[in-house]
Amino acid sequence: MIFETHAHYDDEKFDQDRVELLSNLLKENNIGKVVNIGASFRGCKDSLELATQYEDVYAALGIHPEVLEDMTDENLDWIKANASNPKVVAIGEIGLDYYWVKEEEQRAKQRMWFNKQLDLAKELNLPVVIHSRDAAEDTFNTIVGYNTQENKGIVHCYSYSKELALEYVKMGWYIGVGGVVTFKNGRKLVETVEAIPLESIVLETDCPYMAPEPYRGQRNSSLYLKYIAEKIAQIKNISVSEVEQVTYENALRIYSKVKG
Ligand SMILES: [Zn+2]
Repeated sequence: MIFETHAHYDDEKFDQDRVELLSNLLKENNIGKVVNIGASFRGCKDSLELATQYEDVYAALGIHPEVLEDMTDENLDWIKANASNPKVVAIGEIGLDYYWVKEEEQRAKQRMWFNKQLDLAKELNLPVVIHSRDAAEDTFNTIVGYNTQENKGIVHCYSYSKELALEYVKMGWYIGVGGVVTFKNGRKLVETVEAIPLESIVLETDCPYMAPEPYRGQRNSSLYLKYIAEKIAQIKNISVSEVEQVTYENALRIYSKVKG
């Protein structure tokens, strides 16, 4: 079975078939567990709702670095109040995005909220899901300061160098690998997958975005995780079932509130 560690089924692109996907279709197609990730505040509420509704769906709650307008103490209080729900398994996605956000004042706000949400995760003893784009150094330095034996996370949609990935792995963090690994211009991620142990990789779609080949550019869903597993198997010269099994166990280790 496959563990989907990062999806956004609250997105309107799933309005037509969300119920069908989450009630039967994913399970019939070997997708055992799904973590739906909050990005906006509304996305957090919707994620929790989906997790409450569907047995094998879990939620991560957090404010994404691009959604600056949702970074309010009220919203943080709501996240804190709801994080003790047994279906809430992580704080995320949180982090830094210097690709979309260029203005220094806004970047400073991202950094402040990244730290606030990391502190909250530590207080709640939950893992974190990191979004980081064009902010390798600031993200890594923040994580190094945050990392302890108990406080780990996933660097989702990993886009940096294999050397940096190895630094995260050394700290016991996980690298989220998705559709980019199948892209023609995904060479950097292929090199990362080559360099790091399978025990540090989790599978993710980031759906509805980031569909793998041969569906690049179309709406993504967890049904396409098999193409990512196949690509990793090919890179590491192992069987697809080994990729699925080991990454499933990895996901259970980091999302430890998920019932196996
Ligand atoms: Zn995402």
